[in-house]
Amino acid sequence: MVGLISEIREIVGDAGLLVGDEVTGRAENWMGLGSISAQAIVRPSSTDQLSRVMAACFQADQPVVPMGGLTGLVQGTQTTGNEVVVSLERMREIETLDGTGATMTVQAGAALQSVQERAEQAGLCFPLDLGARGSANIGGLISTNAGGNQVIRYGMMREQVLGLEAVLADGTIISSMNRMLKNNAGYDLKQLFIGSEGTLGIVTRAVLRLRPALSSDNTVLVALNNFENIPKLLRLFGSALGGTLNAFEVMWQNYYQLILNGNPAHKAPMPDNFGYYILIEAAGGNKQADLDRFMQTLETALEQELIEDAVLANSGEQRDALWAIRDDIMTLVLTMLPIAAFDVSLPIGDMETYIEQVEQKMSEKWGDKAKLAVFGHLGDSNIHLAIGTGVENELDHGDAEHVVYDPLRPIGGSVSAEHGIGLEKKAWLSSSRSPAEVNLMKTLKQALDPKNILNPGKVLD
Ligand SMILES: Cc1cc2nc3c(=O)[nH]c(=O)nc-3n(C[C@H](O)[C@H](O)[C@H](O)COP(=O)(O)OP(=O)(O)OC[C@H]3O[C@@H](n4cnc5c(N)ncnc54)[C@H](O)[C@@H]3O)c2cc1C
Repeated sequence: MVGLISEIREIVGDAGLLVGDEVTGRAENWMGLGSISAQAIVRPSSTDQLSRVMAACFQADQPVVPMGGLTGLVQGTQTTGNEVVVSLERMREIETLDGTGATMTVQAGAALQSVQERAEQAGLCFPLDLGARGSANIGGLISTNAGGNQVIRYGMMREQVLGLEAVLADGTIISSMNRMLKNNAGYDLKQLFIGSEGTLGIVTRAVLRLRPALSSDNTVLVALNNFENIPKLLRLFGSALGGTLNAFEVMWQNYYQLILNGNPAHKAPMPDNFGYYILIEAAGGNKQADLDRFMQTLETALEQELIEDAVLANSGEQRDALWAIRDDIMTLVLTMLPIAAFDVSLPIGDMETYIEQVEQKMSEKWGDKAKLAVFGHLGDSNIHLAIGTGVENELDHGDAEHVVYDPLRPIGGSVSAEHGIGLEKKAWLSSSRSPAEVNLMKTLKQALDPKNILNPGKVLD
């Protein structure tokens, strides 16, 4: 190991290598908790450096774990102490922005927010957005195929990536930096690295697809009691707004109450006695016409008695305040600790019954001790469930997994809508993928990483 570390130091220099306290002094997740346990953190400043580092690690059978902004939620960056961590924190450059082709070429260590801001400066937009935007990196977002708040309109990370560059386990650089929307010349190799959670290669650069900037946005929080009205409302806003619907985020009453009750960080926009709260947002290119259409649609929803209350955001500040309720994951976690959090997808028509089944199972397991909070990107068939007791040692994660995943299987839902598998969901992969699919995943892993040194043990055994 000492020999390998010296070899890596030769390649990346002193500034590119952290060892000892500089490693353990770093938190292992976005909440600042824990401590990274690894032989070293390698911080290459170029793809070429990383390629040489990987070649050395391959030669030495050295396990390597790629880390981005550490905001992943499935223990995809967990280490045991034996690994070398690769961080692209010295590769954060936005290299070029092509306004004509609407593309941006970036190094994979760039934070999502910096990419969004750069696109905005050029009168364009990078539409993928999520609460962890300040920390999550392009490399992490690609490797988890992240979703977020605007998938209903723009798709997941996969749809935002035109090309990428990755370093394989043996140091080979695969440069697939395509800049066109269409390119069917053989296999689309970038797809191998999107959503494979650092197990097939380390993403070093990417060509991102940008969209036109939109000049209007309209946001409303609506409340209702009848779940059956939610899909009707989604259909109404989808069709009446002519494809300009950006977000359709639902919060169950249990989430809304948990975030707002006695929390000085928020001012309740409406009473907490409704069954469901939905944050609806649309964006377009004509302020007045978009507002008129949005208001008309809202009126139709009221006339058809699909909703019972509504609070419109009249300023950017009010919009941010509404989103802050939806995005307040920190309050959720701190209030419910110890917490088991889940990210599942299932057809919208099955959601109400599914949640009732989960509640039933919770009450059989924990009586009234455990609390449930449900929220998420319902427009994308994706909900998040948080189960917590607030009391140390009263929640077994394995029990919570059965409570959430057992009723999901007969519906054909997925144990991971957008967070990936990592370590946390590995045991449940076969719930959502057939044996043939899992075998093909293993064949790909074997072909690209024959010595199993890249993020070993994540996603697959
Ligand atoms: C408050 C909050 C809100 C969130 N909201 C959403 C949401 O709405 N939608 C959503 O999808 N996710 C969400 N997430 C999860 C998280 O933000 C995403 O999974 C994100 O993509 C992780 O990016 P990261 O840079 O932090 O990656 P990390 O957490 O550092 O790593 C994630 C995975 O990617 C691998 N990896 C990292 N960088 C590379 C690279 N360069 N090459 C290869 N592999 C790499 C790691 O090994 C690991 O397996 C949220 C997280 C938080 C904390």
